[in-house]
Amino acid sequence: MAHIVILGAGLGGTIQAYELKDSLSKSDKVTVISNKSYFQFTPSNPWAGVGWRSRDEIVIELAPTMKKRGIDFICDGATKLRPEDNQIDLASGRVVDYDYLVIATGPELAFDEIEGFGPADQGGHTHSVCTIEHAEVSGNQWEEFCANPGPIVIGAAPGASCFGPAYEYLFTVETDLRRRKIRDKVPITFVTSEPYIGHLGLGGVGDTKGLLESMLRERSVNWVVNARTEKFTEDMVYVTELDEQGNEKKTHEIAQKYAMLLPAFRGIPALMGIEGLVNPRGFVIVDEYQRNPTFQNIFAIGVCIAIAPPVATPVPTGVPKTGFMIESMVTATAHNLPRVIEGQAPNNLPSWNALCLADFGDRGAAFLAMPQNPPRNVNWVSYGRWVHWAKLGFEWYFMRKIRKGVSEPFYERLLMKLLKINKIR
Ligand SMILES: Cc1cc2nc3c(=O)[nH]c(=O)nc-3n(C[C@H](O)[C@H](O)[C@H](O)COP(=O)(O)OP(=O)(O)OC[C@H]3O[C@@H](n4cnc5c(N)ncnc54)[C@H](O)[C@@H]3O)c2cc1C
Repeated sequence: MAHIVILGAGLGGTIQAYELKDSLSKSDKVTVISNKSYFQFTPSNPWAGVGWRSRDEIVIELAPTMKKRGIDFICDGATKLRPEDNQIDLASGRVVDYDYLVIATGPELAFDEIEGFGPADQGGHTHSVCTIEHAEVSGNQWEEFCANPGPIVIGAAPGASCFGPAYEYLFTVETDLRRRKIRDKVPITFVTSEPYIGHLGLGGVGDTKGLLESMLRERSVNWVVNARTEKFTEDMVYVTELDEQGNEKKTHEIAQKYAMLLPAFRGIPALMGIEGLVNPRGFVIVDEYQRNPTFQNIFAIGVCIAIAPPVATPVPTGVPKTGFMIESMVTATAHNLPRVIEGQAPNNLPSWNALCLADFGDRGAAFLAMPQNPPRNVNWVSYGRWVHWAKLGFEWYFMRKIRKGVSEPFYERLLMKLLKINKIR
């Protein structure tokens, strides 16, 4: 019997537990450790940030579901991983032993890298939709803002890797303001570390540059690209714009009454500095099978893994780790880990394909990038009202899967097969 621990119960860790429960032998034990008692559907956070979703609608308590699936659930935060001893220290003082570990701890939000950045409880002057806790506060403050509106700044900070939610929040906010008939009172600026609009950390997908630039123009949104955000104050954002060579081109002082920028990510403190496990920013190093080359009983999936950007940009940007890509890491790990336990070599390569639905309030854009980095075999983007409805459907469907304790029902597998969108290469 082997004891497999999954650290983190977000989008990756939760479905990893379900898939491993199906792929491992009945005698193996699966334990999930998370510092939160619940799963949150992160893709809906931009909606929660304008009050279109309440916390209850996008959060699921995990203990009952895990129990139903025969998975042990420990609600406690990891304070230190000790891979030489195969042990994890928890905040309560408890120590958990494992035979195999899957790290799925997502990101730590690096607000502290820019002065004045981050929500008020972290001493900053900006809002966040990165977690439901942040998005809920932003949603409440959004009502206050709308009662007394002013200029808005939305975007992504230097080192950010997750650009889709910045565009989603921008267009959701813009749609909400139009519906309230106060759009005319709110100048909006999009400030991003991307080298051009629609780069998305991916070198663009299809013509995302043309599509998103045109949408910004249509909706009267100004923008600054190659933006090195320097400082936030209560009412201003200070930005240095770089040229293509990385030289300083122009400085901008942009008034703000409400600002939300996606921060850079880094690994969680419990992993930071572990030689051979993580890179200098605390992201877990994995091989092509999602396994750490130094500690071969450790796998990692999701936002917490290290992926080098394919090309350097004037202002640093990272590679996004999107939901479907994470699901492909999960499926590869669910197939590779039982082989490793049986003494065989892993042989399932995750596809890392990117399939995303980005909602813009009343319509949206769907992207398919196969593989994720260019040049690609499939490089497709489509825009329309149907994407808004598809995203609503996807939220309902994904929440239902988490509640039922199922990762990929047969009809989903069949549909993906018909569309030739694979999780395993
Ligand atoms: C606002 C936002 C919107 C997004 N929207 C989309 C989208 O529409 N489509 C898409 O494809 N991708 C989207 N993404 C990207 C990606 O799919 C999500 O970030 C996704 O949640 C990442 O999954 P994960 O499992 O890697 O990390 P997370 O979902 O963040 O899960 C990490 C888990 O680890 C736990 N944890 C952290 N530290 C500890 C610790 N010390 N001890 C124990 N547990 C710990 C956390 O509580 C959490 O449960 C979005 C990202 C953001 C930030």
